[in-house]
Order: sequence, then C-alpha cells, then structure tokens
Amino acid sequence: AKWVYDFGDGKADGRADMKNLLGGKGANLAEMASIGLPVPPGFTLTTEVCTHFYQNDCQYPKELEQQVEKALNLVESRTGRKFGDSTNPLLVSVRSGARASMPGMMDTVLNLGLNDTTVEALAKKSGDRRFAFDSYRRFVQMYSDVVLGIEINHFEKHLERAKEKRGVKQDCELLPEDLEKLVKSYKAVVQLELGEEFPEDPKAQLWGAVGAVFNSWMNQRAKTYRSLHDIPEWWGTAVNVQAMVFGNMGNDCATGVAFTRDPSTGKNEFYGEFLVNAQGEDVVAGIRTPQELTIRARQSHGSDLPSLEEVMPNIFRELLSVRSQLETHYKDMQDIEFTIQQGKLYMLQTRNGKRTAPAALQIAVDMANEGLITKSQALLSLKPDLIDQLLHPTLDPKAKKEIIAKGLPASPGAAGGKVVFSADEAVRRCKDGEKVILVRIETSPDDIHGLHAAEGVLTTRGGMTSHAAVVARGMGRPCVAGAGSITVDYAAAKLTVGSVTVTEGQILTIDGSKGEVMVGEVPTVPPQLSGSFGTIMQWADEVRDMKVRANAETPADARQAKEFGAEGIGLVRTEHMFFEGQRIVAMRQMILATDEADRRQALDKLLVMQREDITELFRIMDGNPVTVRLLDPPLHEFIPHTEAEMALVAKAAGVPLDRVRRRAAELQEANPMLGHRGCRLAITYPEICEMQARAIFEAAAEVGRSSKKLPVAEVMVPLVATVEELKLLKGVIEKTADAVKKEQGITFTYKIGTMIELPRAALQAGRLAEMAEFFSFGTNDLTQTTYGLSRDDAGSFLPEYKAKGIVEHDPFVSLDPEGVGELITMAVQRGRSTRPEMKMGICGEHGGDPASIEVCEKIGLDYVSCSPFRVPVARLAAAQSAL
Ligand code: PEP
Ligand code: MG
Repeated sequence: AKWVYDFGDGKADGRADMKNLLGGKGANLAEMASIGLPVPPGFTLTTEVCTHFYQNDCQYPKELEQQVEKALNLVESRTGRKFGDSTNPLLVSVRSGARASMPGMMDTVLNLGLNDTTVEALAKKSGDRRFAFDSYRRFVQMYSDVVLGIEINHFEKHLERAKEKRGVKQDCELLPEDLEKLVKSYKAVVQLELGEEFPEDPKAQLWGAVGAVFNSWMNQRAKTYRSLHDIPEWWGTAVNVQAMVFGNMGNDCATGVAFTRDPSTGKNEFYGEFLVNAQGEDVVAGIRTPQELTIRARQSHGSDLPSLEEVMPNIFRELLSVRSQLETHYKDMQDIEFTIQQGKLYMLQTRNGKRTAPAALQIAVDMANEGLITKSQALLSLKPDLIDQLLHPTLDPKAKKEIIAKGLPASPGAAGGKVVFSADEAVRRCKDGEKVILVRIETSPDDIHGLHAAEGVLTTRGGMTSHAAVVARGMGRPCVAGAGSITVDYAAAKLTVGSVTVTEGQILTIDGSKGEVMVGEVPTVPPQLSGSFGTIMQWADEVRDMKVRANAETPADARQAKEFGAEGIGLVRTEHMFFEGQRIVAMRQMILATDEADRRQALDKLLVMQREDITELFRIMDGNPVTVRLLDPPLHEFIPHTEAEMALVAKAAGVPLDRVRRRAAELQEANPMLGHRGCRLAITYPEICEMQARAIFEAAAEVGRSSKKLPVAEVMVPLVATVEELKLLKGVIEKTADAVKKEQGITFTYKIGTMIELPRAALQAGRLAEMAEFFSFGTNDLTQTTYGLSRDDAGSFLPEYKAKGIVEHDPFVSLDPEGVGELITMAVQRGRSTRPEMKMGICGEHGGDPASIEVCEKIGLDYVSCSPFRVPVARLAAAQSAL
C-alpha cells in the first residue's frame, strides 16, 4: 500500500481532490507544486496511516518506515541538503493536516533536524549565529512541549532569567552565547524531567514528531473542535513533512498570510499581513503588529508601517501573480501562507479561505460576474446556513453610543452582553441563559468552547488573521480584535481603558463591522437585504422548482416572511392566535362552557378576533395562498393547572372555581400528543370547526370585496387518520362556505385539504385525495408517530443515540429519508394517482432545513413552508437541490 505521497520540483503524487487521503494541507501542497508554484519540497503521510495507527494499538503499517526513508531521500536530493549533515543540513517542519481545516487544534514542530552538529552548519551557512541558536532554542522548546510533553513554563523561566542577566527586555536582544547557553539549560530541563537526553538523532526526532501529530488527533482540543464542527473521528489526520524555509534569517526575509480577496467584505482586493524577519507562527500569534501587503490597505488603515508593495516590490508582484494563478485554478477565494527567505518567495499553504457571510455572497456574485464561475456554481458555493447570519441585526445608526475603544473589524455584526474574561465563565453563564461577550488579551484553541458560547468576542491583541478573528468569522460571531488601548486584568476580572473600568458582569456592546467597543447595551436594527444578497436570491429563484412559503400567524411574522420572499403561508397555527391578551379569556370561556349555547357565545367572541387576524393575513399575502389550519392542540393546554392560576381563570371567565378544577381534570390525558387533539376536536365540537371556517370565509369575502387580488384561502384539517374524519369535516366546512356566500351575496374560491401527520394517513393517501384538494406533510408529528418518538421528550436521550451512531441526525431537525421520507414518497404517489394535479408541500420544522429540503425536492413536493427567518435559507437550498 502507498502510505506516503511526495511533492516538490513542479511534481506531486497527490492532487487537490485527494483531501480525504492527504488532508487539506497535503492535497493543496501537492496541487500547488504540480501547477508550478514555488513550494518547498516535502511529503505527506496519509490519513490512512492515522486510521491504521488507531486501529492497531498505535502501531504504524510495516511498509511505512521504508516509504518515509525514500521520500526523505527525494527531499534531500530536491533541496541538495542532507538530514543531519554537518555542512548542509536539511531541516523540516512536521505539521498535521486533516480533511477539514482545524486551525491550531493539533500539533506542529518546526526546525526539526537541528542538533549540536547541524546548528553549527546552520550558523555558518546563514552567517548568523544568533539566528541559528535562536532556531535551535525554539526547536528544543517546541519539541519538548509537543513531543515530550514537558510544560512550556519550565523553559520560559530560563528565558526570563537569561534576559535578566543580560539586562534586556526582548528575546531578540539576547546574544548568540546567551542562546547557546539557553539550549544547554533547556536540554538539562529535559534530562531532569524525563530522565533521558533530548534526542540528537534527526530520524529519531522525525518519528517522535510524526507520532506526536497522530496522537494530537485525540487531544481534548481536537475532540471539542470536531464535535462542534461535526467532523468524524475516523477521518484521521495526515502528517506533512516539508523542507524548512526561514522568514527570520534577516531583513530580506519575511513571512505572511493573505486572502486573495477581503474575507470580511468579499471585495476583490488582495488582503493580508506580513512581518519582516519573523517565523510563520509570529503572524498568527499576534505578538508583533503586522504590516499590510498593499499601499492601498496601508493607507486605508492609517498604518505607518510600510507595506510589502513598498518594501519588496518584486516579491509583491510575484505574489500578485500567484494570487491570480490560484484563483483561476481553484475558482475560489484562497487563504495562503507564504515565506520569503533571502529574497525568494515560497508558498507554504493554500486553502479555500474562511469568510464572513456577506463576503461569501459578494465573492460568489463577483466571481460569476467576472466569468470565473457560472451562476450555478456561485449558488452551489454557498452553504444555505450562511444566509442565516446575514439576517441578523447590526447597530442602530441613530442610537447613542459611547465608544470606549477601537480595534479591528474582525467579524461583522453587533452584539451586546455581560463581560466575561474566561471561556469557562462564558460557558457557565451561557448555560444560565445569559448573553455574554468574551474578552481576552488573545484567544487560543483552548478557548473555542467559550467563543461558541459567547455572543461576541473582543481581544486586545492580534490582527485580522489572529485566532479569535478566524474562529469568530467561522462561527458567525461578531469580533473586534486587537483593541490595544484596553488593558485586561484577568486576576481582578476587569478591563480598563482610559478612565473607564468595566468589571465582569457589566454590559458591553461590540460592533464587529466597525471594530468599535461601547459600554452598555446599544440598540440594533434589522439587516439590509440588498446588494449581493438580492442577486443571489434572484438567481436562486430563477432555478428552483419548489415554492417557499412561511409558517406564520401574526401580521408581523407574515410581513417579515413576505419581505424575505415567502410565496404564501403554508401553515397558520390558529391556536397561536388565541394566546394573546384578552383572547385567551374567550378561549377559556369556550372550553369551560357547560352546554352548546354557552360555547357558541364564547365562540362568537373568538370569531371576531379570528376573522380580523385572517383578513390581515390575506391582505399581507396579497393573492398568495394562505393555509389556515383548524385548531390542533388538546384543550388542556389552554387551562392552567395550579390552584392559584385556576382561581384567576375562574374569576376572569366568570365561572366557579370548581368548574375550572373539574374541567381541568376531565381534560387530563395520559398521552395528550396521541389524544383528543387535531381533527378529533372538530369532530367532537363541530361548532369550533364551524366558527373557524366562518372566520376564514368571512375574511375571504371581505378581502375579495376590497382588494385587487383575490385571496387564496386554503382550509387545512390536522391529524387526520381516516377518510371518514375528513369527509365529515369537509361537510361542515362546505356548508359554512355556502352559508357565508349566501349571507354576503358574494362568491369566493377556497380549497379544503388535509395534513398528513400520521402513518395511517400516508397509507390512505389515495383515498384521502378523493376528499382533499391538497396535502401538507406535518413532518413534526409524522416523525413523532413514525418513529414512535416523543418530540417533546426525545431530547433527553437523542444525544446519546447520536453519540452512539444509532442515528446520524436528530430526525426532528433533519428529515429521515428512509422512514418518514418513504412514507411521504408513497403518500405523494398514491395521492397523485387519485388527483394528478394535487398541490403538496411540507410545513414541519424540516421545511427550513437544507438537507430536508433536498429530500423534498427529490420526492417532488411543490413547496416547503418554514419559519420566516428560514425563508431565504430555504430559497437557496431549494435552488441548490434543483441544480
Ligand atoms: C407538524 O406536525 O409537522 C406540524 C407542522 O404541526 P405542529 O408542529 O403544529 O404539530
Ligand atoms: Mg402537527
């Protein structure tokens, strides 16, 4: 078997599409090498080695050693250097690289191959003894930390002492002899801690580092990251071994990171940062303030440090050409890492760049307009859930705000919350339902659980590519990075800036689009939905087959849905209309009524309210269909159950307390979800059904009279199991329609349909279609009844089912294609064989879930209906599933 893949010298064994085998980094290094970009030679140990390692008690495949040996020889001949050589030593980096990028989660070792012999050669070749021993010192520390597991502060003590002795503040002010001594002290630490010597043999170092990377796949950080990002454990990581290039060998050296377009706005502008005379990690760690790549960026950020364009114009031009080569090749925005060693450019990494949601849309639209990709590719390049992030609020421009500090606009959106200074505290308060802003000097991968829990993140150090910035953008959390005027005191749990002090628990607002930090809660406004958002939505609408409707009952929700592009209402849950204000009183009077006359009196009150609501919905939807569902929940849900509350209800409804008690007891059911609810209510109390039908038809008559566009009324019967139920209720509804027509002297059209929420209804779909003019799949109940799984209680054990791999997704979130999906498919076929042109849609929560929408498209449904804020997501998902 082939376990090792080479790259370098314009050639490579691997390709970009081999990410599963080579990891993202390895596959892209191979691709870059083979399109002729300047990549230092190296090789990749595949993810299959990792899998083998974990399946075989941490043993490597037996051919591995020989294959690594061969690959190493090739790197030696490609670089003209030799591992462990006393005049021209090869030094390598060893890095992890999983299929999906997991920034900073796993381990890296640089400068590997240094020992007491090779360090002298490096000193001679570079002509810089300080550099050679600094590299050696860093290597010993990194290796000891990552591979040998010795805590870093053991070494830092020595470093501090060396600086004290020399009377200097900065590491770089130490003299070569200081560093040489430091290496000795570091090795002594290893001897003391481990009882054995630091490995001098480069091969031993190499195998140590490879083992450490594979082991790091199972460290806690990596596990947390995987579970947050749904990355399966069995994917494993690859290991990349690559010839070192140095960005810290002098002032003709540099290292940097860049995005081929602005990752925050998506603008087609080269965007990045670099540091002269520094090693790669220095840029990301945010220890020194980096310089801009372009003159334009330097000017617009008001930086007084010169840009790469000014300092190294030739290299800058070369980098520009790499930029366009990469974009043409990958047809996507790239995130690159490069190093300049003694005036020569090397590419160390490329990958599709993480970007904000607005940037993702802008880039997709621009690239399609530039002809780099097609419109379909543009649509397919966007994860529908991204759209969700765009729909979130920004600061109200009219609001008063007291800006106390400014940092970099690292991830857009505005958020306010209570200040916390540690990730653990963020998680703790979040669990208690508090909104928090995580404030850190800088963040590290150890903080991701806190970043996840927080509404937003503020750091006082680091650039646009710092850890906090990258992770926040990925998670869609607002982030202000590098707000350097703020001083954070972790021990006292407070921050200070000028005369302002903010302690833990006080409220801050951050604006990640502007980089501003404000005290107190600043009001926000809804997002502007134009520009590239509008373009993408328009392109999506051009290609999708399925319509998108919304589940809405309040005028506000209906308007919001319309604004987001809903083409009608797929579900009005009428019971939601009865919970507001005085309405609940009439509802309770109806339930507490002892005879039909009493009940009718209460129903008359409800009729007025219901008619007004539905009229408004018809008006808002302006000729688009509105599906109004008859009352669905069991009546006990409208009656409280404590004595005190019952007493209040009795008073408000003007009935004796005893009657409330008795009625509550009567309505009690052992399994209310399978009990007296849905159409069963209307069967028992036809007058409720009559009232609701009347409200709908009177509203239709009214709107039909006064509006240009005729309302499209759809009356929907819930929880039907038998044809007889539907037949009976259809009779009641039709009779009411006829009565209203006659009374009002006007005609209107309407449809009567049924929900399919029970397996029996799906089975009987052929016969139900004789009665029903449309079907709407209530996949919440259909999932519940197909699985025999309570939608209210499954949360207590479903996570375990997921963890044990019994189900891949929560079936209440993502439609189960094999069970529930099969029932829907069958019902659609049976229904359409009776009534070929019948409209069918889905109105369960799944209607807003992209994976479920794809299932609906495959089944051939006519529409999905989802909550208003999911409408744009559903429009894009529907387009993607049609492509
Ligand atoms: C459903 O069951 O999927 C549905 C839409 O109805 P409800 O969620 O109101 O039960
Ligand atoms: Mg239901």
